[in-house]
Amino acid sequence: MAASALALFDFDAAGAATGYRLVDPTLPALTVTELAATRGDGVFETVGLHEGRPIKAARHFERFATSIGMLDLPPQDTSVWDAALRETAAALDPAPEGWVKMVMSRGIEGGDSPTGWAYATVSASTVSVREEGLRVVLLDRGYRHDIAQTSPWLLQGAKTISYAINRAAYREAARRDADDVVFTTSDGYLLEGPTSTLVLRTGMTLRTTRTDLGILAGTTQAELYEWAARNGYTTLYERLTPADLAAADAAWLVSSVRLAAPIRAVDGIPKPVDAALTASFTAHLHSLTD
Ligand code: PLP
Repeated sequence: MAASALALFDFDAAGAATGYRLVDPTLPALTVTELAATRGDGVFETVGLHEGRPIKAARHFERFATSIGMLDLPPQDTSVWDAALRETAAALDPAPEGWVKMVMSRGIEGGDSPTGWAYATVSASTVSVREEGLRVVLLDRGYRHDIAQTSPWLLQGAKTISYAINRAAYREAARRDADDVVFTTSDGYLLEGPTSTLVLRTGMTLRTTRTDLGILAGTTQAELYEWAARNGYTTLYERLTPADLAAADAAWLVSSVRLAAPIRAVDGIPKPVDAALTASFTAHLHSLTD
């Protein structure tokens, strides 16, 4: 047992993972000409762990396959990846929270094989962010709402490992004395957080951004929508505006590790937190381990 674990994948001539080896996660594992490192040319999934077990793993593998297809990477037998996900998670010290990040890149520059790994780690508690909530700022992402249709080569909707912009947005939020970000389009629609999906509640209606606006289809949001529909809520995918966020009774940024984090202020304006529904969201997501 350890605080982290690492599996490195082996690939066949067609670029499909055939198996993996568990290696020491504290030792170097990538070469300096690795395209994940030099170009950010790859895709990933981060799966949350609850009591050491993966939450909604199947949804992650579905999206992983979509991202792999969008980047023209070789198709994968996800059962090999799933075995590594579970074995690395099982190698961790017992802990309430953790995550496994699975990465697949185009491989080493000039080579003919992808690179892939699954890195599991125990993590710090996310309870306080769900209890205290987030102060968010709206930041212009700099493109129109129809970018996915006009410019598919920009890979909107693929979960690529190129996250420098997402990290820069967090630094800008900190400069503005906020904790997180909701990106907007240049023509005035709400998008998503740098690593999360926006969900609004107005009465018994939940609203989120339509995925054809060039956002990532969130696995957490999808699960919460299924739960909400079973529990009497109307669930909508819309073109949302900052006015919709301001008018909503409550709002969350939802994602696989932090789960449903309530928004308590938008650009410095306080927003009520729905603690009861946040708790129901958490309980549902925790029930999704297998
Ligand atoms: N949007 C972006 C850009 C993300 O990076 C993430 C997760 O990292 C999400 C949304 C939320 O997705 P999920 O709920 O599947 O974690």
